[in-house]
Amino acid sequence: MKLLVASGNKHKVAEIAVLLQDTAWEVCSLADYPELELPPEDADTFVGNARIKAEAAARATGLWTLADDSGLAVDALDGAPGVYSARYAGEQKDDAANNAKLLEAMRDVPDGQRTARFVCALALVSPQGQTAFTQGYCEGSIIWEERGTMGFGYDPLFLLADGRQTMAELDMDAKNAVSHRAAALRDMLPVLRAVVQAE
Ligand code: IMP
Repeated sequence: MKLLVASGNKHKVAEIAVLLQDTAWEVCSLADYPELELPPEDADTFVGNARIKAEAAARATGLWTLADDSGLAVDALDGAPGVYSARYAGEQKDDAANNAKLLEAMRDVPDGQRTARFVCALALVSPQGQTAFTQGYCEGSIIWEERGTMGFGYDPLFLLADGRQTMAELDMDAKNAVSHRAAALRDMLPVLRAVVQAE
């Protein structure tokens, strides 16, 4: 069965596709629907933005659709960049500029107060418009300079809670064992399996 992952972020799509590889779902993405334009993500929660993307893409394609809205919430910044994570340093959605801005914002925050978490909301929408939501978290802290070259976004600045590796030092399988996206998807798996059984 075909599942549209309503994202143009190839890293997110790849992470989700690996997590679904042992299921009957065959993943496609917005890259397969270049004409499809999604409405602005203007909700003030991750769940709200995931819903906007998933509902619009399901309506346009008639497919079962999964959308991810995710980001980084830093305690010392009152939860920023939060839902604005992709555009933290501007509309160009530039990971390097976002990381530079985060380091600058955290310049005077001492060790011990640099705690943060990745958050991922998933919305699954049926061709008839019914929606299921899950949310996943990954706890850690913001380090003082980038470490690691894998992953994307804030991964090089995010030290996992065990204090050993940044998210950018984990390969995709290792990231998928601990990430916010994997946690949210694990909770969605029973719904996805039930849909397959009902078809
Ligand atoms: P979205 O595409 O609007 O959901 O924006 C997600 C943004 O949050 C990305 O551009 C990254 O800046 C950040 N983000 C979400 N998930 C991750 C992750 O797994 N690693 C690093 N950054 C992430």
